[in-house]
Amino acid sequence: MVDVLIIGAGPSGSMAAAHLAGKGYDVLVLEKQIFPRFSIGESLLANSLEMLDEAGMLEAVVAGSFQYKNGAAFVHNDRYSEFNFAEKFSAGSPFTFQVQRAQFDHILINEAVKRGAKVVYEVEITAIDVSGERPVVTSKKGDELTIHKPRFVLDASGFGRTLPRLLNLDRPSDFPVRAALFVHVKDNIVAGEFDRQKIRVGIHPTETHVWSWLIPFSNGNSSLGIVATREFHAKFKGTNEERLWQLIAEEPKLKQLLKNAHTVRPVGEIVGYAAKVSSLHGPGYALLGNAAEFLDPVFSSGVTIAMKSASMAAEMLDRQFKGERVDWQSEFAEPLSYGVETFRSFVTGWYDGSLQDVIFYDKQEPSIRRMVCSVLAGYVWDQKNPYTGPRSGQRLRALAQICRAN
Ligand SMILES: Cc1cc2nc3c(=O)[nH]c(=O)nc-3n(C[C@H](O)[C@H](O)[C@H](O)COP(=O)(O)OP(=O)(O)OC[C@H]3O[C@@H](n4cnc5c(N)ncnc54)[C@H](O)[C@@H]3O)c2cc1C
Repeated sequence: MVDVLIIGAGPSGSMAAAHLAGKGYDVLVLEKQIFPRFSIGESLLANSLEMLDEAGMLEAVVAGSFQYKNGAAFVHNDRYSEFNFAEKFSAGSPFTFQVQRAQFDHILINEAVKRGAKVVYEVEITAIDVSGERPVVTSKKGDELTIHKPRFVLDASGFGRTLPRLLNLDRPSDFPVRAALFVHVKDNIVAGEFDRQKIRVGIHPTETHVWSWLIPFSNGNSSLGIVATREFHAKFKGTNEERLWQLIAEEPKLKQLLKNAHTVRPVGEIVGYAAKVSSLHGPGYALLGNAAEFLDPVFSSGVTIAMKSASMAAEMLDRQFKGERVDWQSEFAEPLSYGVETFRSFVTGWYDGSLQDVIFYDKQEPSIRRMVCSVLAGYVWDQKNPYTGPRSGQRLRALAQICRAN
């Protein structure tokens, strides 16, 4: 009998599966695609490394020879500011990795399988009924439908947003519709021109809401993407590849860095990725990672939130299955949202310009810079840091005023 059915084998699904199977539960992961498969979301935060360690997956990730990452660098015209995770306020890992997700996600799900989880590929969840004592889930493989009656369902289906769609939990995001054009390039960047151990976030010279990411991998390739509103993207015409290079040319320093680069996979586009839900849990189910909410790619928060939600949900389920009374709202949704709200404040501050003023302020108190660095490293659940939680937005705005006045 299946204890937990997990929809999707991305980072949140694998992490939940590894924890639960490791505790002896019968875990079935049903994944729509065949692995390895491409996914966007390649720059990890330092905090995610600790979660991988707790799940017993770190050794396998280290053996994957991914690009070491020790921080983030921000560039706007002649302004440059870098944050080294080693200088962060919170205790914890000073580094992480930049990963090709096809390989990374495959390693994680294989680790979950080693702990006893069962995974079946090319199976799509198409229906769920949560009105009875147990959830009744329908999956489809080819033309064959199967009915499952697990004790609990975790939706880890990412942008597939399976349960939000099937149970009408989808709610509009607080953020305007933005789009990303992205690709992998053989970057051919001359050694020394660029710190490959950091994600580079470049800001458009005049339109400061438009930004680029450059995430180097260990094989000489980089992930490259440009984020802007749908309206800004619409000004550039042609194929996706032509539009991408026109957008790169808008940021002269990025264009210079990529002067010898060429694409190694087709340019992709995602429009309107921000999403949220009315509730993170319900009778017999909970939502993990992107299936619940996605804010914005700018601080590379997606995989960290995905993993955090998975480890929290696994712990909740373990207690619940042991007969303990658990409250999913106060013990799962609310503590998780403490960190999500931190990132929400930072994303809001990024697009209204206040956070950019903080990031580039060169007379910053070192202690405050360390607190901002902690958030950029993913330590958003550290309640000792005043720039975390529901009041982080207010504090960030006050800090920006000080930076602007000086
Ligand atoms: C432009 C952009 C850039 C980003 N950059 C970063 C970054 O640098 N760093 C970062 O941490 N995050 C980044 N993210 C976010 C990151 O991609 C996601 O947060 C992360 O992949 C979420 O993990 P997940 O496990 O929730 O879902 P996913 O990784 O999306 O995995 C979900 C899995 O579920 C499967 N699935 C879907 N529907 C079904 C179904 N009905 N039945 C069965 N299986 C199903 C899918 O095939 C998929 O394999 C970025 C996002 C965007 C849009």
